[in-house]
Amino acid sequence: MSCYCGTSKTFELCCAKFIEGTEFAPEPEALMRSRYSAYACKNAQYLFNTTVTDQQKDNTLIDIAQWAAQTKWLKLLIVDSVQCTIENFDSNYPPTVEFTAIYLNNNKLFQFSEKSIFIVEDEQWKYFSGDILTDVQLPTPKRNDLCPCQSGKKFKRCCT
Ligand SMILES: [Zn+2]
Ligand SMILES: [Zn+2]
Repeated sequence: MSCYCGTSKTFELCCAKFIEGTEFAPEPEALMRSRYSAYACKNAQYLFNTTVTDQQKDNTLIDIAQWAAQTKWLKLLIVDSVQCTIENFDSNYPPTVEFTAIYLNNNKLFQFSEKSIFIVEDEQWKYFSGDILTDVQLPTPKRNDLCPCQSGKKFKRCCT
């Protein structure tokens, strides 16, 4: 299976090593992708752990777990990504990653876009905050439509 985040790599060779904690994400985009994959496989603990400490009280483990349980993440597209290593991090100019994602919530399809800001805390990348650019409902696919995850399969045989 290719990784949830949409790379051609397998999950094990892509986001799993970050989610399982064997490695830290080297760049903000890698962290963003792994957080998306963590939503897709409903790993709320990883999402909590990779949120900056200041924001954790407003994004509790229970909040994250509830949101992850309600949503099914179908597709991720990275729109724009500022490359930055931990060594080159400058808190005056925190790097951003802009992405668009497609998710299902209560059988309704949504398109979500955000520009996320990442900072370094405890020598690892953490999610700081995000500007939500769009969060709009899309027409619900019919059972015989092609799946919005772009697998090429019919919706009824794929992400429904
Ligand atoms: Zn991945
Ligand atoms: Zn699908």
